[in-house]
Amino acid sequence: MNIDVLISAFSKVSVLCFVNDYIEFNISMQEIEQTLVAVAAQRLLDMRCPFCGDECTVICRKLRGNRRVSVYELLYGQALHHVVNEAKGREETYSYPTMPDLIKKGIALGYLPMKSLEGWNI
Ligand SMILES: [Zn+2]
Repeated sequence: MNIDVLISAFSKVSVLCFVNDYIEFNISMQEIEQTLVAVAAQRLLDMRCPFCGDECTVICRKLRGNRRVSVYELLYGQALHHVVNEAKGREETYSYPTMPDLIKKGIALGYLPMKSLEGWNI
């Protein structure tokens, strides 16, 4: 079996759900560990306008070419290993840049408006 694909997920919880779904499909944890390379989450967000700020005028939106940006959260390597172990029921301590962390960085650097964090319960 070969599941060495990137799976779209939205948070650590989604990764755990993904692992649990595969266990329900009778795919062994060993197969998951051996074939899963990385998990990626993508979010398409409005960019902060360099001219108008957080809210862009209709005319500016029509004239400005680049209005959206993709933010990717990647879970791989040791962090992925820890998440898989957590799915097995082990207590794990780890950290990696999550989607809210990356969005906060985008806001701090001036690329994203503050409203980008809406819905994350932070
Ligand atoms: Zn604008």
